[in-house]
Amino acid sequence: MTDKYAVIGNPIAHSKSPLIHAAFAEQTNQDISYERILAPLDGFEVTVRDLISKGYKGANVTVPFKFEAFDMVLPSNRALDAGAVNTLRFLGAEIRGDNTDGLGLVRDIKQNFGINIANKRLLLLGAGGAAEGVLHPLLEESPTLLVIANRTLEKASSMQKKVEKKNESRSYFLNAKAFEDLADQQFDIIINATSTGLTDTALPIPNTIFAKGCLAYDMMYGRETPFMKQARESGAQVADGLGMLVEQAAEAFYLWRGVRPETQSVIKKIRNLA
Ligand code: NDP
Repeated sequence: MTDKYAVIGNPIAHSKSPLIHAAFAEQTNQDISYERILAPLDGFEVTVRDLISKGYKGANVTVPFKFEAFDMVLPSNRALDAGAVNTLRFLGAEIRGDNTDGLGLVRDIKQNFGINIANKRLLLLGAGGAAEGVLHPLLEESPTLLVIANRTLEKASSMQKKVEKKNESRSYFLNAKAFEDLADQQFDIIINATSTGLTDTALPIPNTIFAKGCLAYDMMYGRETPFMKQARESGAQVADGLGMLVEQAAEAFYLWRGVRPETQSVIKKIRNLA
């Protein structure tokens, strides 16, 4: 019998997850279906319960429900670190929640771009859900420095404090800054986890922050954002978030099916469809 899965979000029409999971299923001979579900903004929990009653095995969760999902589940350690959930598994009456976003980003940087994060100077732009989701997995790779910069400085400072409270014996240097205070520093990897790409807004960051050989990674995909343009013009290697999307999906697929799909060919396939 075909096992049913879905991605829940609002909006959801743009989601590439059904294409990605269909490619994984074909590649690994798994008999699954995977569809987009638009949940009303005040109807996430009702939507999840409805899927469970219809026999779905699991779901992905996207904007704006990742925090709400966290409150409904038995969280994995990764979900606890992130405080947000992007993957649900329905096991009888129990809902297990995980977060595969950070692992997706780290795998893309390390495996697909061949860049080691250890001993690098990292800059994380943004302090919203996406930034929270990737912070711990990035720190686990042992960078020498990680600076969180955000328009609202208090949010970056609060992320910093949460990490420091949890982990006192850390080997990296963690800091929170406003964009305007970055002028005197250079970074080896800069990750844009703000949503400014969606509105084509440029960030007030200086061109001098891109170190020689810097990887500038924008979590957004589909077109060149102002951040990508600035990074390219400043000599950085530029990446979009499609690899992260496919890698986080591969980890969700593994949690559901126990099979790890190959991702390179799927990244290529989805990019060619765009
Ligand atoms: P949130 O709404 O939670 O956070 C938005 C962030 O962007 C905040 O840090 C906010 O700053 C900042 N921001 C928004 N507008 C501006 C602006 N005009 N100038 C400066 N900063 C701004 O969104 P998410 O964290 O959930 O998502 C962020 C991005 O990451 C989205 O584009 C999303 O599509 C992408 N993403 C990609 C994934 C992938 O697999 N590739 C996975 C997850 C997310 P402030 O705190 O000051 O409001």
